[in-house]
Amino acid sequence: MYLYNSVSHKKELFTPNSPELVKMYTCGPTVYHFAHIGNLRTYIMEDVLEKALRYVGYPVKRVMNITDVGHLASDADTGEDKMLKGAKRENKSVMEIAQFYTDAFFADCEKLNIKRPEVVEPATGCIDEFIKIVSTLIEKDYAYVAGGNVYFDTSKLEKYYIFNDHNEEDLAVGVREGVEEDSNKKNRNDFVLWFTKSKFEDQALKWDSPWGVGYPGWHIECSGISMKHLGEDLDIHCGGIDNAFPHHTNEIAQSESYLGHKWCNYWFHVHHLNTDTGKMSKSKGEFLTVSLLEQKGYDPIVYRLFCLQSHYRRNLVFSWENLDNAAVTYEKLIAKIATLKKEGEVDEEALAQLKQRFRTALESDLNTSLAITAVYDVLKANTSDATKLAALADYDQVLCLNLLEAAQKLIKKQAEEEAESADPEIDALIAARTEAKKAKNFAEADRIRDELKARGIEIIDTPQGAKWKRV
Ligand code: AMP
Ligand code: ZN
Repeated sequence: MYLYNSVSHKKELFTPNSPELVKMYTCGPTVYHFAHIGNLRTYIMEDVLEKALRYVGYPVKRVMNITDVGHLASDADTGEDKMLKGAKRENKSVMEIAQFYTDAFFADCEKLNIKRPEVVEPATGCIDEFIKIVSTLIEKDYAYVAGGNVYFDTSKLEKYYIFNDHNEEDLAVGVREGVEEDSNKKNRNDFVLWFTKSKFEDQALKWDSPWGVGYPGWHIECSGISMKHLGEDLDIHCGGIDNAFPHHTNEIAQSESYLGHKWCNYWFHVHHLNTDTGKMSKSKGEFLTVSLLEQKGYDPIVYRLFCLQSHYRRNLVFSWENLDNAAVTYEKLIAKIATLKKEGEVDEEALAQLKQRFRTALESDLNTSLAITAVYDVLKANTSDATKLAALADYDQVLCLNLLEAAQKLIKKQAEEEAESADPEIDALIAARTEAKKAKNFAEADRIRDELKARGIEIIDTPQGAKWKRV
């Protein structure tokens, strides 16, 4: 499989340290609020990546953190702790907020067919791991204590900006929001490993440490949790593009300084979902959540399809109109699949070819739009329906668009509707009404309409004749 690696800025043949097990780490949510659908674009594409790796034959162990402490309003370690902000907003404790929004996050994931990673670890469960890493970094002289906090000293590194070709705007994200100078830092890019002298006296979660009572910085979480569950070598690390700097840059700095060797080989970054007015936000404009999509009558799977239709390394613009287009596409696609009959033999050779087409799309830097095109190619293929159904079932292990289930539901619904309309008595009454109308006997036509209405049947006059439904 070829994947774009943000470190080399090239598409590379993905070669894990051991084909026996791909070690995959994904930055998890900061659980102070609902995830917006932009966050979920990242999780959908990471889910597709994990499933694609499995599809091409690798077993995968995937770890995700839950950020329930230490992520400040600005990624550059300034501003209020996001969790505290959430707790104040809702007048609850930080742990109540964390539990509620962790559950809400996984409920959203389930609706989007995002598989839960094998390991999900909250930061508050790994304080000892973080303290161990920070202590070693101080011993190795990569970190210093100043003004009560422990900082990573970026001047000790040969190369700090690992992902240095990201566009300026993305690089600036972390330092742009609410820039505040921290006079304890020796260098502009130094970052906090452990806070003790917090300016937030009401910080709810604090732990004892060799540097005083405090709490970990956000970046150390992901290094610590990854090493706890995946060891010293990581194959692939994922996140949204805004995480590349400073979060992932700092993760690499501290992990490799701590370990004394290269840590992670491949970095996978998903570009942003924006609105037509700009950046997606939880506080400004419409707060776009999965629940909002549902309230507006969308099947969340339509949003998954919308994401899959474009490449993960392109910004994607969300608008209701764009989502409507995806909804129509999905409806038509399912209607086409519903016409396939479980007939004929599976043509193994044709199936292998169709599978190969899909695999090639995934292996081309996770080209999901090409993978969706492959679905249409299946429908057009000159082969038996049984072969087509087998191919679609195979593809849906990765796409997870409920292709066959949704088609089955539609078939059932159509059958029910047909069964309902196959009522000879009602059909006879409708025919009698049509005759009465023809004969301009409107009193009789109305009488039949009223009789049917009293029996819960509504007549719909269409250019193709009178139809009816139960109401
Ligand atoms: P957070 O909960 O803020 O830590 O973010 C969770 C994930 O969503 C991270 O991987 C972010 O990089 C990613 N993310 C944030 N905003 C967007 C967006 N507009 N589009 C796609 N991914 C995003
Ligand atoms: Zn992270």
